[in-house]
Amino acid sequence: MITKPKGTYDLLGVDAKISNYINHEIEDFMINYNYEYIRTPVFESTELFHRTVGDGTDIVTKETYDFKDRGDRNITLRPEGTAGVVRSVIENKLYGNKNDPIKLYYNETMYRYERPQSGRFREFTQFGIEVFNSDDALIDAEVISLGYNLLVSLGLDDVVVKINTLGDASSRENYTNALVSYFKPHINDLCEDCQKRIKTNPLRILDCKVDKNSEVLKNAPKISDYISKESKERFNKLKTYLDNLDINYEVDENIVRGLDYYDECVWEYMLDDGIALGGGGRYNSLVENLGGPYLPGIGFALGIERIILKLKEKISDKKLENMIDVYIMSVSDEEKIYALKISQDLRLNNVITEINGNNLSLKSQFKVADTLNAKFLIILKNEDLQKGLITVKDNITKEEVKVDESEIVDYILGNI
Ligand code: AMP
Repeated sequence: MITKPKGTYDLLGVDAKISNYINHEIEDFMINYNYEYIRTPVFESTELFHRTVGDGTDIVTKETYDFKDRGDRNITLRPEGTAGVVRSVIENKLYGNKNDPIKLYYNETMYRYERPQSGRFREFTQFGIEVFNSDDALIDAEVISLGYNLLVSLGLDDVVVKINTLGDASSRENYTNALVSYFKPHINDLCEDCQKRIKTNPLRILDCKVDKNSEVLKNAPKISDYISKESKERFNKLKTYLDNLDINYEVDENIVRGLDYYDECVWEYMLDDGIALGGGGRYNSLVENLGGPYLPGIGFALGIERIILKLKEKISDKKLENMIDVYIMSVSDEEKIYALKISQDLRLNNVITEINGNNLSLKSQFKVADTLNAKFLIILKNEDLQKGLITVKDNITKEEVKVDESEIVDYILGNI
């Protein structure tokens, strides 16, 4: 038997249902917040991720799927969504008008060669948004609160947003230099990865899972001492906005995010049990660094598999059971013609309907209707049909009524 590649999964059953539910909610949110869908290629030039995500990040050094195509080009399967969107914005000159923010979203598979475990895959899905052409803290608040509100509306109401500021480019540089000077004499007390991070990505030492509780890390310089006055004011403004929106947030100076391109605010959506559902940040220099004009940006990505996992723990089995509106029962050829026609009328009126598609006996059809948890049964009988009538049984109260054939759709719509 050929099995699926390590770190991948088939989306099916309850997980597929929850995934559909999440996607519907995302679509509704995107309409109400006025974001446009964008889809970029699954693979891009390898160079794109080196120049955006960064040479020193774990993602680029250890986790990308890189290969040469048959034309000898260096190709990488996208490990995250922002780089491709930024490349597309530049290539298609989606710079907008002077005053308009450009608001985009994606919901796509990503690829990282990580050690698979619960909620961690090699092929996974991220829903993400990116807003360009605004450097206003108001937009920071809109973006952060959008992700929070989406998670809460999906049913994850214990989510907390951990926010931090990395300051502007010069604050970040000063702080990075301070970290390097501080860590250098302690280099042998750090894990192997962090010994490399001193050269490649010193900020990342702060959220190292291995060194997290070491004294060296605890006594490291604090980022808040290096943030410029302007960046501090901006961060205070953001906090005021988030207070007004009733967003459950906490300032956490250890949130630095793994990617190279962030400045100003960064954040993560966390659950009580310490699981990160997603994160984001502002990236005001990224478009310019990739050869575009100055175009500030901000965005986040949420991990769909982790959301499915957490929702599955929360939603009761009852809610996940199949619940269809109507099961139509038919045995004779004439009844089957009616069953097909009525099912079409009901389905076109948004009524979830099933028919006897396996030539079952009436007794077996009752059983199937029960397993499908049908709210109503339409029991077609030749003698009723000759009089223009249809028998409808409420499958919960077990009451039966006869309804005029021409009124069946209205009757069902009025009672479900
Ligand atoms: P990141 O871009 O690494 O901050 O990831 C954002 C979110 O995507 C994380 O908080 C996770 O929810 C999700 N995520 C990242 N990597 C994986 C993975 N390998 N498998 C499943 N979800 C992931």
